[in-house]
Amino acid sequence: MLASILTALVFLTATTLILSLLLIIAEKWILNYGPCTIDVNNGQKVIDIQGGSSLLNSLSENEIFIPSACGGRGSCAYCKVKVTQGGGPLSPIEEPYLSEQEIKDNVRLSCQVKVREDIKIQIPDELFNARLFKAVTASKKMLTYDIMELGFDLVEPDEIEFTAGQYIQLESREYKGADSVIRAYSISSLPSEKKKIELIMRRVPEGICTTWAFDHLKEGQEVSLSGPYGDFKLQDTDAPAIFIAGGSGMAPIWSILRHMHEKNINKKSYYFFSGRIYDDLFFTDELFGLEKKLSDFKYVPCLTREPEHSSWKGERGRIPEILPRYIPDAQEYEAYLCGSSALIEACCSKLSELGLKDEKMYFDKFE
Ligand SMILES: Cc1cc2nc3c(=O)[nH]c(=O)nc-3n(C[C@H](O)[C@H](O)[C@H](O)COP(=O)(O)OP(=O)(O)OC[C@H]3O[C@@H](n4cnc5c(N)ncnc54)[C@H](O)[C@@H]3O)c2cc1C
Repeated sequence: MLASILTALVFLTATTLILSLLLIIAEKWILNYGPCTIDVNNGQKVIDIQGGSSLLNSLSENEIFIPSACGGRGSCAYCKVKVTQGGGPLSPIEEPYLSEQEIKDNVRLSCQVKVREDIKIQIPDELFNARLFKAVTASKKMLTYDIMELGFDLVEPDEIEFTAGQYIQLESREYKGADSVIRAYSISSLPSEKKKIELIMRRVPEGICTTWAFDHLKEGQEVSLSGPYGDFKLQDTDAPAIFIAGGSGMAPIWSILRHMHEKNINKKSYYFFSGRIYDDLFFTDELFGLEKKLSDFKYVPCLTREPEHSSWKGERGRIPEILPRYIPDAQEYEAYLCGSSALIEACCSKLSELGLKDEKMYFDKFE
């Protein structure tokens, strides 16, 4: 009796295994998606691939790097592209990340689109410039108690072209209790310094990538990064500028301001930087120094929780409360904001009250 039950069990398991295997083979070979083409931007690049992989992976294997921070799990929504032909139906994973307008415009999460037929997509032109870089960690320097400047020397390719304000994606390595992840970091170095990349990183408690970078990454260690990405950059206009940042949101603004100095771009500008206490400030001498190097530039560090009786003589309070005293009417300005959503949203709402139109507010939210 026991023997026949065991035989039946073995038979069932073997049948299930064989059927699963057959299904996999069927999907790969019998259903064989076969050769497909991906047409990018109306023939600007046409890629021949073997169908079956995700659009995101198929593109990166062909050196088109779409930003993605979740490893293709459909949870970061960075990898949006417009699919104008092919791509199959929208999946339930994608829907929550797409606005009604994006759904109408056929925007998709490229990690969730399987290439099973010829497909046509539209991507921003600047994504053609994104590359995968091998780099070596050149320096780690603490700027405050929780903010670090990280320097990388590029190895392969050994130069990068980017616009001040753009970001790269850094891949962390596995360490005890954490998988490798990819996270976005704004470039703080200058576009003219093509052979290196500097970042300004704030430690996030329990954060996977930041714990790796602060505690495990060693000088001399090789890393992998891709980019450049993003359209946060100084507009080519004569309008005066308001820069606003908090914490590591300094990174792209630091690059933009020094780029303005290097290229002799002179425009009236203010930089409001938010910290809680004096120890949150960094590059202070350099930023006040820029007041002499850039024409009509003013640096305004603002501290929200500096002890009342300290020797701090600068601004105290939140940037939205301080802004109107410097800029009672913001109509003529453009604003560049970088850091947490809370800071950006509070400042954008105050800038609206001061007359600045939404389309003249440019921002990079770090979440
Ligand atoms: C375009 C862009 C540019 C960015 N540039 C920079 C930069 O120049 N410097 C920089 O330090 N960061 C930057 N970030 C944020 C960065 O990409 C990571 O999100 C951040 O470093 C946390 O990664 P982690 O893996 O350590 O944390 P995770 O493991 O992803 O998160 C751990 C926990 O912390 C929370 N968390 C995640 N990020 C933050 C945060 N920023 N603040 C508070 N809590 C958080 C998460 O919700 C989660 O609960 C940028 C983000 C974007 C989208």
